[in-house]
Amino acid sequence: MKLIIIGPQGSGKGTYAQRISPIFNIPQISAGDLIREEIKSGSKLGKQIEPIVKQGKLIPDEIVTDLVKKRIKKSDAKKGFILDGYPRTLKQAELLNKITKIDAVINLIVPEKIILERISTRLTCENCNTIYNIKTLKPKVDGICDKCGGKLIQREDDKPEAIKRRLKIFETETKPVIDYYRNQNLVIDIEIKENEGDIPPEKIVERIIEKLKKIQKFK
Ligand code: AMP
Repeated sequence: MKLIIIGPQGSGKGTYAQRISPIFNIPQISAGDLIREEIKSGSKLGKQIEPIVKQGKLIPDEIVTDLVKKRIKKSDAKKGFILDGYPRTLKQAELLNKITKIDAVINLIVPEKIILERISTRLTCENCNTIYNIKTLKPKVDGICDKCGGKLIQREDDKPEAIKRRLKIFETETKPVIDYYRNQNLVIDIEIKENEGDIPPEKIVERIIEKLKKIQKFK
């Protein structure tokens, strides 16, 4: 099953994708993680894109598409994958359409109030990228990743100025992507209400799975 999960920063897409992945035995492919790994590797490409990411801007469509294309060719993605953070522009959606066909798009609708609260309390493992939240999703030991023992940090682009820029980018660049998939009848809307800011991720994942199971194509 080939899935996309779309939502603004802080909508929980990474957190939910990490939980949906083992249920269907498909890898979570996060464009942001692929990009951060490229930067960490110190490659020429990594050096070129680092300043763009630090400012909270989008890297060029062709570059991110190349990274995703290479990743979905790996053997663990043969049965499918859940793409998180890609495509983020209409151009990327069109480029992806040439590479593979998508079965469903999970569209997370989350009030801005919840988003701002979540991002300001979000921590990410600098080693394995697992996401935590100091209020709703605490690690067992403060500042340390449960999975790999890595250090938990606040990402540079989770700082207030970058967040505002990224939310604006979502409105202008990513909304057309949702329309593109809606026209193809692929969108599953998952709405989180104002009073559900602290809802455990597992509850939302249940809602997503329930809707996915209703899809005929679901295998
Ligand atoms: P994320 O981890 O999804 O919040 O992404 C972190 C940063 O990586 C973004 O702010 C962008 O700079 C870059 N990025 C991630 N996904 C994409 C994409 N699909 N297209 C362009 N840039 C991206």
